[in-house]
Amino acid sequence: MTEFAFELRVCQWAETAWSPAREDSAVVVARQLGTKYRRWDTLVLECDPDGLTQRGAFGVAAFDSDQLHVLRHAPASWTFYRDALPDPGYPWRYVRESIHELADRDALDTRKRGRRIEIRRTREYPDWCRRVVAIENKPDLTASAARDLAGQLERDVALGLADEAWVATEATDERIEPILLADFPSEAGVLTVDPETGTAETIWEPRSLAPDAPGTRITERPDDASAARFEYADPEWKADKRLAIAERAYERGWRSYADTMRPDCRHFELRADEAGVRPYCVAKERTPTQHECRGGCGSFEPEPPAWRTKGWPLSGGPGAATKRLLARRRRERRPGLDGEGD
Ligand code: SF4
Repeated sequence: MTEFAFELRVCQWAETAWSPAREDSAVVVARQLGTKYRRWDTLVLECDPDGLTQRGAFGVAAFDSDQLHVLRHAPASWTFYRDALPDPGYPWRYVRESIHELADRDALDTRKRGRRIEIRRTREYPDWCRRVVAIENKPDLTASAARDLAGQLERDVALGLADEAWVATEATDERIEPILLADFPSEAGVLTVDPETGTAETIWEPRSLAPDAPGTRITERPDDASAARFEYADPEWKADKRLAIAERAYERGWRSYADTMRPDCRHFELRADEAGVRPYCVAKERTPTQHECRGGCGSFEPEPPAWRTKGWPLSGGPGAATKRLLARRRRERRPGLDGEGD
């Protein structure tokens, strides 16, 4: 099974079966997100249900770090923006740009008083994301993949940006799962997934990391004995990064593969089985990878125009319908969105 197909299984499983630390948390799952330094395969957000609904009122599009700085400090009554917002640590002109972007999205009220811009929040930006869990997917854990992964997990643990770090791998029939013999940091949890049934089992419990404490960014880890290089990451930087990642995860979810794959190809199908719904290529007789399923694919054939008129009367053929279906599924996990067509 390709890493992509496995990853979709993990996302599907997490969306339906993840046990959040607080039972009343709502779960939002996303894939392929991270920072400049690190991209995670699967992200699980454990969210305050009311906060998630309030977040939905802002629409599905993510806010970036600069916009979040304004939103989180926006006052309830009209105030000159420089009096309302803490010093951003970067030029104020970028703050003004964010203010205009937020006003365009109706996320902030603005008015001019002489030469001064005053701002007022339209609604409070909620504290919606309680925990961020990062999962690395390695269906087939070869020795060299395990070595690379061990280094990445060490970095994750040292930085502590997520609340938990996990590795998910395909279950084997061996008495001791080989992944337990890999030299991973003991803080990382291990999950074995059965891709046929879409079920998973925890075989090593993770230890909670410390997202509120200072972290260490390992910027270089030489193979020889010379010292690794570190950068200090303060808790404010981490909190900003976490929220920006959560925002992107909120927008993107894990079904956005339809945006880059070719559901408009006549061989593309969404197939449902015990483990959930997955993209399937009739020509390749399996789930294609995102890299394969593009316009440049040798077997690509556009869906026949007749498909767009027969039984698909209104808006496009099966390709367009597939995108709409996946977008709808994504929206179902995000209460409070006001009829937006994402
Ligand atoms: S033939 Fe190529 S483009 Fe068409 S569904 Fe298969 S992988 Fe995707």
